[in-house]
Amino acid sequence: MTKSQELLKKYFGYENFRNGQEEIINHILESQDCLGIMPTGAGKSICYQIPAMILPGVTIVISPLISLMKDQVDSLNQIGIPATFINSTLSYSDYSQTLENIKHNIYKIIYVAPERLNSETFINLLNTIDISMFTIDEAHCVSQWGHDFRPSYREIANVILNLKKRPIVSAFTATATQIVKDDIINLLHLSEPFTLTTGFDRANLNFSIKIPDNKNKFISDFLEKNSKSSGIIYCATRKTVDALFEEFASLGYAASKYHGGMSEKARTKNQEDFVYDRSNIMFATNAFGMGIDKSNIRYVIHYNMPKDLESYYQEAGRSGRDGDNSNCILLFSRSDIVTNKFLIEQTPSENNHKIEYEKLNDIIDYCNTDKCLRKYILEYFGEIPLFDNCENCSNCLSTTEITDITTDSKKILSCIKRMHERFGSGLVTDVLKGSKSSKIKSMGFDKLSTYGIMSEYSKDTIKDIIYFLITEGYIKCVGDKYPILVLNNSANDILFTNKQVFIKRKIEKISKLEKGSSNILADIDYDANLFETLRVLRKEVAEKNSIAPFIVFTDVSLKEMCKYFPVTKEELLNISGVGINKFENYGEVFINSIKTYVAENNIDLSNFSKKSILSKKNKNTSINQNKVDTKILTYNMYQDGKSINEICESRALKRPTIENHLLKCFEEGLDIKLEKDININFKDEIYKAIEKVGYEKLRPLKDILPDAVTYLDIHYFVILYKKEKMINMA
Ligand code: ADP
Repeated sequence: MTKSQELLKKYFGYENFRNGQEEIINHILESQDCLGIMPTGAGKSICYQIPAMILPGVTIVISPLISLMKDQVDSLNQIGIPATFINSTLSYSDYSQTLENIKHNIYKIIYVAPERLNSETFINLLNTIDISMFTIDEAHCVSQWGHDFRPSYREIANVILNLKKRPIVSAFTATATQIVKDDIINLLHLSEPFTLTTGFDRANLNFSIKIPDNKNKFISDFLEKNSKSSGIIYCATRKTVDALFEEFASLGYAASKYHGGMSEKARTKNQEDFVYDRSNIMFATNAFGMGIDKSNIRYVIHYNMPKDLESYYQEAGRSGRDGDNSNCILLFSRSDIVTNKFLIEQTPSENNHKIEYEKLNDIIDYCNTDKCLRKYILEYFGEIPLFDNCENCSNCLSTTEITDITTDSKKILSCIKRMHERFGSGLVTDVLKGSKSSKIKSMGFDKLSTYGIMSEYSKDTIKDIIYFLITEGYIKCVGDKYPILVLNNSANDILFTNKQVFIKRKIEKISKLEKGSSNILADIDYDANLFETLRVLRKEVAEKNSIAPFIVFTDVSLKEMCKYFPVTKEELLNISGVGINKFENYGEVFINSIKTYVAENNIDLSNFSKKSILSKKNKNTSINQNKVDTKILTYNMYQDGKSINEICESRALKRPTIENHLLKCFEEGLDIKLEKDININFKDEIYKAIEKVGYEKLRPLKDILPDAVTYLDIHYFVILYKKEKMINMA
């Protein structure tokens, strides 16, 4: 085992290096300058932190993100590596104390804001200590062609040049365009650097495009299933952020918001609440995210389509930095195209419009493509993916349905004509829907032959078709603030010839639907109840130590604990991300919590943890073999003939929990005969109720069914109904 491998295991608690890490480390240790181009979450930090520990002197890390420094230093101190930071947030006395400590060689790694490089005192200090390496994080900031140019980055080369002894220089970025790469090498004076590009792919991210009839309802359904996970919901405008925040905070969700119209104080507080898991959901404009390295963001939803794929990938890429599965969902509506075109027209520079339109068209194509979404993104960034289908994006997991909307289009176009092409999409929709508003009556639109001819559709569906006709060029939007709908000549082809119009819609494949694709915890292979327990414990421990929860343990570490139930020192140290220091600090409380859970739930560890530790060492073992789901324990007892009440008693769990375990097993297709606990005579009645109020929520069904029908009956038949419906569709 090399020294680097030993440190990776001992301090960071990781078994293996990730792609590219070891190569960069080895080149640094051979005193060669390095440039590492790796996507967010790839693990750039370890590439300089491990050599920093091995090299004799100090490593200075230049980082532009002041808000990140504390977290980075906290993380290092947590695993036992002496580190500090110097930036404008330090009080004068803390600053002096830190300088004193630096003189006494207390630290191995010092994070520095680039602006400090203008301070003479600081530069003098640098010449009094032994600096082995200068690391430049977010190195694209040196280039005007990067998206985040910082003039102070231009000082770095000079400072290095004026040091008594030239240290090794290593630079890292996630931006890979050739021009930025050349700038980094030239402007930082890297000397024949070893350059490594690992590629843009983020295999743990599941990309999906959704075109919901109602975006708020989509968010509401999604949050209902995933409210305990951390996630960001990006919106195009401050107004939408405010409105969504109001709506969901008032429903009791632990939500925060962030946009440029808020005071700095409020923004900082909300950002901290999110990072420290005091709130889970962040509604934000694109002003939020720079300087966030929270690793346990499990989803990023875009409420509106952003202006280009660069922004999209950067924002979506804030999820899943810990390597755990995460969802990136873009809620597309055709009105987003119109809004983005409008925004481009508002910008002054004529020259850029062409590029902006090209980029906009690329992201529109992304939203409409039938190809694998991951492949599309990678190709956009100039890579040649080795796969055709990732089998993990909404396109790979769905089929396309083509619908003839000729009649609907005729209705819409003739309605616009009958309203004399003088109104916007809102009023046209209201007339087609048959709204009873006084405005419509007073204008006499309720007398039009097109009034109410699309009453069976939702307003969102009507608008979606209108925007489709706009993007296809049949209708034109005229005017800035209150655009009105005007017919283009091509509309006549639909109205007066036999021209047909088709719209493509995606249908998710059955397997994913049955699993409940909007539930990001659907594919779990760990004990979800224990995860909740440990998540609460992690938050308490973090609060006590004034650090962010993801710094105590990542989601990945917690999930492994919930899969392997470690209850000894050796077993806990086997968990990914648990190094010796973290074990010493938190091992006991976590082991105690796991032991209590195991006892309360009668989990038989003698079978189970031995198998898991074994399988952990042999990474190729099928995941299914390791499934340690509490519902399976319930299932086994039920199959052994125990009644639900007996299981409740023996597992010390409440009846709804046990019922849920059994229903989940039934839903997932396990062989289970629930009929003895279900009243099958209610089937017809429940099916009728489903046809009436839908099956998204059980409560409305319970409300209209006789009291004798239990939730278990309803839930069982909802699952059966869905299964039958899917089979019919197939
Ligand atoms: P980047 O700076 O490239 O965005 P980070 O350095 O923040 O990424 O690393 C992202 C996450 O991956 C962190 O939680 C880190 O601890 C984890 N990580 C890094 N290297 C490894 C590894 N070899 N094995 C497992 N996890 C790793």
